[in-house]
Amino acid sequence: MDIKTNTNFANIKETYLFSEIGSRVRAYQEAHPEASIIRMGIGDVTLPLPQVVVEAMVKASQEMGCKETFRGYPPEYGYDFLKDAISIRYGSMGVSVEPGSIFVSDGAKSDLGNIVDILGNNPVIIPDPVYPVYVDSNTMNGNNITYINGTKENGFLPLPSELPSGDHKGSVIYLCSPNNPTGAVYSTEGLTAWVDFALKTGSLIIYDSAYDAFIAEEGIPHTIYEIPGAFDCAIEICSFSKFAGFTGVRCGWTVIPTTLKAGEVSLHALWKRRQATKFNGVSYPVQRAAQAALSDEGVKACAQNIAYYKQNAKLITELLDKKGIFYTGGNNSPYVWLECPEGCSSWEFFDKLLNEVQIVGTPGEGFGKGGDRYFRLTAFGSKENTIEAVKRLENII
Ligand code: PLP
Repeated sequence: MDIKTNTNFANIKETYLFSEIGSRVRAYQEAHPEASIIRMGIGDVTLPLPQVVVEAMVKASQEMGCKETFRGYPPEYGYDFLKDAISIRYGSMGVSVEPGSIFVSDGAKSDLGNIVDILGNNPVIIPDPVYPVYVDSNTMNGNNITYINGTKENGFLPLPSELPSGDHKGSVIYLCSPNNPTGAVYSTEGLTAWVDFALKTGSLIIYDSAYDAFIAEEGIPHTIYEIPGAFDCAIEICSFSKFAGFTGVRCGWTVIPTTLKAGEVSLHALWKRRQATKFNGVSYPVQRAAQAALSDEGVKACAQNIAYYKQNAKLITELLDKKGIFYTGGNNSPYVWLECPEGCSSWEFFDKLLNEVQIVGTPGEGFGKGGDRYFRLTAFGSKENTIEAVKRLENII
């Protein structure tokens, strides 16, 4: 063929992380068929959906099979019943987000990846290490990325004062709190520093709050809109995946305040246009399920699942505390991010855990350069497996 392709794809780092983990685990299992391997690398939930969510999905599916209640294409931006429920959720956090600024989606990943469609080739600021979608989607668009490093010293919560010198005017800044993979969560002061910086430099913050439901500590913001000025500089992208176990159901949302403008151009209007052109909405049963997750009963059931995972996280962090190993996360996150003992690289530590105690985690290197000597363990497994894993780890770290 003589067509041109997007040559920026050649600049995307090959994501061999999970395939490499898979092949090392397979090789080990083949050589040791009797070994019982515990997987603590997964970022996926494992508990089933709350009953109230399933019932709503079943009922909505039955409506779709009835002439009187059948529905065709959903509204591109989401049904009012779900946008209202999301708006009420923000209200419970003390923040007023009108339903008209909410766009329902099939998950946070799509919106995080697609948001570049409405933005030009701006300078981009991305923390390292972080969820790889921000880097890859901007690389696909040929954007210039400045990394800002998470380190032991800043608790993996870099601040604008740590940026390389330059005016950074008109930047697009990605923030993820609680962070994947580090589990670190910005305080009000930290987020205020970023919002003030964005307002001062005419920059846009894209705030990924996919894990906000894991925040347990009082006083930690659940949404960027708790910070004064954020409505003038921030888009928030969130998900039902981790909050309600929707990884296999697919639903999320994006807030773009109707007042958010780049010069005279409304970002809300651009996203509306983009979605109307390229997206045909989320299915009715899924939106009813999401609405049920936000009901009083749904929130309670989801909180029980989160408490289960958080108990697993606590088992892991108690061990690390006992061993004096530096880590972030766990408290307000399903992820525990630990410094590899004895100066190991993250892949060396991966091999050590697999070979010596048959535990699989995720090497930090897969989330950026700053993860080179760190390791992610997740709390998404079962309680029994986590207890067993902690017992095994105790002997070798
Ligand atoms: N944002 C972060 C930080 C994530 O870790 C993930 C998934 O692991 C997502 C977004 C994707 O969410 P969704 O399942 O809604 O696409």
